[in-house]
Amino acid sequence: MLQFDQYSFARKKVLIRVDFNVPLDEHKHITDDTRIRGAEPTIQKILDDGGSVVLMSHLGRPKEGPTEKYSLKHLLPRLAETFGSDKVSFVDDCISDEAFTLSASLQPGHVLLLENLRFYKEEEKGDRAFAEKLSHHGEVYINDAFGTAHRAHASTAVIADFFTSENKGFGYLMNAEIENAEFVLHKSKKPVTAIVGGAKVSDKIQLLERLVDIMDNILIGGGMAYTFIAAQGGKIGNSLFEPDFTELALKILAKAEQKNTKIYLPADSVSADRFAADAENQTTKSDMIPDGWMGLDIGPEAVETYKNVVLDSKTILWNGPMGVFEFKNFSNGTFSIAEAVANATDKGAFSLIGGGDSVSAIQQSGLSERVSYISTGGGAMLEFLEGKELPGISAIRS
Ligand code: AMP
Repeated sequence: MLQFDQYSFARKKVLIRVDFNVPLDEHKHITDDTRIRGAEPTIQKILDDGGSVVLMSHLGRPKEGPTEKYSLKHLLPRLAETFGSDKVSFVDDCISDEAFTLSASLQPGHVLLLENLRFYKEEEKGDRAFAEKLSHHGEVYINDAFGTAHRAHASTAVIADFFTSENKGFGYLMNAEIENAEFVLHKSKKPVTAIVGGAKVSDKIQLLERLVDIMDNILIGGGMAYTFIAAQGGKIGNSLFEPDFTELALKILAKAEQKNTKIYLPADSVSADRFAADAENQTTKSDMIPDGWMGLDIGPEAVETYKNVVLDSKTILWNGPMGVFEFKNFSNGTFSIAEAVANATDKGAFSLIGGGDSVSAIQQSGLSERVSYISTGGGAMLEFLEGKELPGISAIRS
């Protein structure tokens, strides 16, 4: 595979799979352009080298072919802002004759954006003929779409077969995502701490099983904590509970003890009398939640303990919120942890915010600039951390 930063793209036509799956409001304005900003350095390097760029991406989940709402044309003004309106063009079908005519005549320094790949069902099916057609848009294939690297789709994985190893590689974003995750998992300075939260233990069980081998500390919060607490015989009221996972939860606790990994469960919780922003709330021990009440946040004692562990850590991985942080009364745990992660980073720790809701918590708290790295891939980062081989990565490496 080619080494992106050492490669000269002069006079090359480069087909890049980006992840431009950005949120749009009802006027089709981009409400968060993080993913576009993430891919810009890769595009810019190729243009600066004197190459030209064909961009392909998906947007949303169109069900039945072309849908105005999911057209990538809505992103054109944003791309024109960065690369110049005379340099960026768009074609309304990713494999039409017109698309191939435009990509064939693309001049150095210019960018062609293809219409949403998912307007063709073949994309998600990983159809080989479709992937081969797409491959004709460039001499070099770069994958910079970490957010879809866990999918074996035509443009993310299958297409790589149509390029020789020296003509395919990762862009800056993909390299950064892989390097940062590998750093946390394999080269981290101790003590290394994982903060794992979110709704369901079933979604995070594989992650926890792996982290027990790697981490010094694991801080568990969010709805998933209550299955652990119930498994140990605690009273959790109406809190989230997955009875099928109690045995596995106990196994993980036992394995952690064997491996000298310290697993923390929240000593106390802020509970609600119903799942609502304006619910009544009370703080109790997490294993003594009254009937009819549900734990929606870690309590002040847990916050204090977790903060101290975070502040003593040299490496921190955070995946998943500590509570229902969308409701103000149950957001203290998540935002306190966000602040502790930022403070630990100020003191020299390396922090990786790995995916999904913990990313939006960091962004909402205005602390994005004070953590080391924020991943752009929710599901992809989770699978990478679980130790799974991601199709988008292995297709380039093989
Ligand atoms: P996940 O996608 O698994 O990371 O879960 C994130 C979601 O979990 C967020 O929308 C939170 O509101 C929710 N969540 C966190 N803690 C709890 C809890 N104690 N009870 C119910 N939902 C929770």
